Amino acid sequence: MTASGFTITPVSPLAVRVTQGYGGGTEAHMDESTARVEAALAAARAAQPSWAALSPAARASKLRAAAKVCLEGADTLAAIVSEETGKPLGEAYSGDVLGVADLFAYWTKHGPAWLAPRKARIPTLDMPGKRGVVEREARGVVAVISPWNYPVALPMRVIVPALLAGNAVVLKPSEFTPRSGAWLIAKLAEVLGPVVQCVEGDGAAGAALVAARPDHVHFTGSTGTGRKVAVTCAELGIPCDAELGGKDAAIVRADAAIERTAAGIAWGVVHNAGQDCASIERVLVDAAIADRFLPALVAAMDRVAAEVPGLTTAPQRATVLAHLRDAVDRGARFLCGGLPDGDGPVPPTLIADLPRDGAAWRDESFGPLAVVEVHAGDDALVAAANDTVYGLGGSVWGADLAAAEAVARRLRTGMVWVNNHAFTGAIPDLPWVGRGASGLGLMSSPEALDHLTRPRVVVVDRSTAIEPWWYPYGPTLVDLMKQLIVRQRDGGLGALLATLGKLNARNKALRP
Ligand code: NAD
Repeated sequence: MTASGFTITPVSPLAVRVTQGYGGGTEAHMDESTARVEAALAAARAAQPSWAALSPAARASKLRAAAKVCLEGADTLAAIVSEETGKPLGEAYSGDVLGVADLFAYWTKHGPAWLAPRKARIPTLDMPGKRGVVEREARGVVAVISPWNYPVALPMRVIVPALLAGNAVVLKPSEFTPRSGAWLIAKLAEVLGPVVQCVEGDGAAGAALVAARPDHVHFTGSTGTGRKVAVTCAELGIPCDAELGGKDAAIVRADAAIERTAAGIAWGVVHNAGQDCASIERVLVDAAIADRFLPALVAAMDRVAAEVPGLTTAPQRATVLAHLRDAVDRGARFLCGGLPDGDGPVPPTLIADLPRDGAAWRDESFGPLAVVEVHAGDDALVAAANDTVYGLGGSVWGADLAAAEAVARRLRTGMVWVNNHAFTGAIPDLPWVGRGASGLGLMSSPEALDHLTRPRVVVVDRSTAIEPWWYPYGPTLVDLMKQLIVRQRDGGLGALLATLGKLNARNKALRP
């Protein structure tokens, strides 16, 4: 620890690491943090052009080698994730480490084809002799700012395609899970060199990274922080995609299979202690099934209680306890769970009779709890589900799949699932995407390349003719435009060909 409150430890010669201590925010220590962040960004920037100069296939091959090195350390990585987050080792493997293997396999197999230039369709009659392509050019240095709930899977869903597309990457892991991020970047750097960098630290390091002007910012985290980051990016003119909080609802229709639906929703509420952006935080049950379904859901929640880990961070625990106390103050009932005993883990909790201005309905809880409401029919269920500023995911549970799907399409969210919830984060081919207060970000799938690359248009004109729209204008230009319109409207080429003949004559006359 330095006098300024920072510990600065090189992870490897290739990965700069800045660990911010909690000794207060003097100006000297801000300067030191900023200098380290800028050094990481500069190293990434210097390495990026030669990385981008490789073909996508060559980058894929290097990424396959990097995957091997990362996965050889899978046991170490899972242990670090489990230690840092408090999640069971099985969840560290399933939620974080396995996903990394899938990501590398997916992107290195399919990514090069998606990065190939697209041949433009240029109308040959109106614009003869031209050929054009739209290339996907790497943005440059992509800053990846990550939360702590999936400290490996979340950043890697951006880092792998960003690298494949020819970008350099600077990762800023959460201050609560610094070792997972540093370990990963150090392993990647063993194979890829300084094109990957890690900058540890808290929000100040994240803010310094954005202020250092990377070429793109991918932020995953809370809605409040994400908005601040997006505003700074807008001011600096940096593209930013931000994946933010959620308040997912699960709708249980009258024909839902009771036991399976109860098991699935219980998992969706309490998995990872509810610390999933797409965990189920509202359960909306059709009145026709409520008497049978709610006891089954309570039983399913109670059954899993022993397997639910504690909340990862002290601030997160404080938020969840505040939501539970707020529910008590507003006269709500706990169908199961409730406030924990002392320092014990927060039990799986279902809250009933909570007014809509209750914190657990209005704000993201990010804990093992959900608000339950009972409504009669699809319209009321959908209206309740859409009564939120968030729009990440939502699910509809029922036996009539066509009807359930139709209801699911009425949810104002980026993702909807029928008879399941949120598991698609592990599928690299599906975008992870929200709307509203859940952000403008997108992870995974070919669509993510729209964020991680910029289009570059290259057009070559082989024509030797003087263009009809160049000077000098004459009556032929008007004729031509009219006939092009007529051709689109009525089809046929006769008049158009006659005008093109006149144009040729005009071009000959213009030549010396
Ligand atoms: P957070 O917003 O507190 O922090 C996220 C990251 O931002 C951390 O690395 C933090 O150090 C950094 N940061 C903080 N202040 C910053 C600033 N001013 N400038 C730049 N960076 C800054 O979020 P968290 O508590 O780490 O994570 C939980 C949140 O993340 C929840 O809201 C959850 O829903 C959300 N999340 C969303 C998704 C998604 O895909 N939509 C996925 C996982 C988590």
